[in-house]
Amino acid sequence: MVWRLYGGVFCPFYRHKTGSIRAWNAFAVLFGFLCASTSSLYFRPTFALWSYGGQACSFIDMRIDILTLFPKMFEGPFTESILRRAQEEKVIDIRIHDLRKFSIGKYKQVDDKPYGGGAGMVMMAEPIVQLIDEITVTPVETPYHGVSSSVVHKPHRIYLSPRGERLTQPKVEQISANHEWLLLLCGHYEGVDQRVIDGWIDEEISIGDYVLTGGELPAMVLVDAVARHIPGVLGKDESAAEESFSVKLDRKKEYPLYTRPEVFRDMKVPDVLLSGHHKEIEKWKKAQLR
Ligand code: SAM
Repeated sequence: MVWRLYGGVFCPFYRHKTGSIRAWNAFAVLFGFLCASTSSLYFRPTFALWSYGGQACSFIDMRIDILTLFPKMFEGPFTESILRRAQEEKVIDIRIHDLRKFSIGKYKQVDDKPYGGGAGMVMMAEPIVQLIDEITVTPVETPYHGVSSSVVHKPHRIYLSPRGERLTQPKVEQISANHEWLLLLCGHYEGVDQRVIDGWIDEEISIGDYVLTGGELPAMVLVDAVARHIPGVLGKDESAAEESFSVKLDRKKEYPLYTRPEVFRDMKVPDVLLSGHHKEIEKWKKAQLR
């Protein structure tokens, strides 16, 4: 533990460079061992202080709070593969919140009929806003005469909605670069009371021009797409830099991919990819972008 604390100071730099949390941890322990073995009484506490700061600021690159009426829908997509690993390695912290927590009355109501008539039900403001407040507002007790105040932490609050701005690769990159904490509100039924959007939402995002039954699948799409751009989420053999719609590929669609065998059911891998001529291969790849 102490060794790791000592090593923490270099970890953020190392991790940023390699994108590997395991390598980062190993490096932390090694460096910590070297520092701990110094006999200087001056250097030991200094290293420890630096290290603690480094460690603290390197943990959890993005926190994502998801508000939903159906928390179980997130089991599977978030408990498998890359997103599971990213959470285990504490690169992202995903918290699922049940919107029924602050449901109203004996019948645990969360929706009601729309004013002005119309089909379906609308999600009520009170249960949503109470949950947002619980997540974002920390009450602070002051010692004088029981007076209390509160600190409001502000995540970037997104409502998944077909009426929102269309999610594109540049938008994904912008969200992952500019925010360390996201709050995603998943609608259901006909949607949510407009006053929630006006007062507690920073932007509305749509995953496409079609209507789904709820915001859960759009939230999963958004989290998956954004997470790929957080350093350390993809393994060292994976990269978000050279993919369809990336800047590196001029925002175009990727070239076709092939792997072994060279011939599969009479279909052969293009000769150029087997040629070993890197310049020719690059030219071919560029020509295939669409
Ligand atoms: N009445 C809404 C309309 O006509 O725009 C559709 C509501 S939809 C049935 C229920 C919820 O699913 C929405 O509140 C939203 O959270 C989510 N949703 C549906 N389609 C979506 C999309 N294309 N992008 C993002 N969220 C979507």
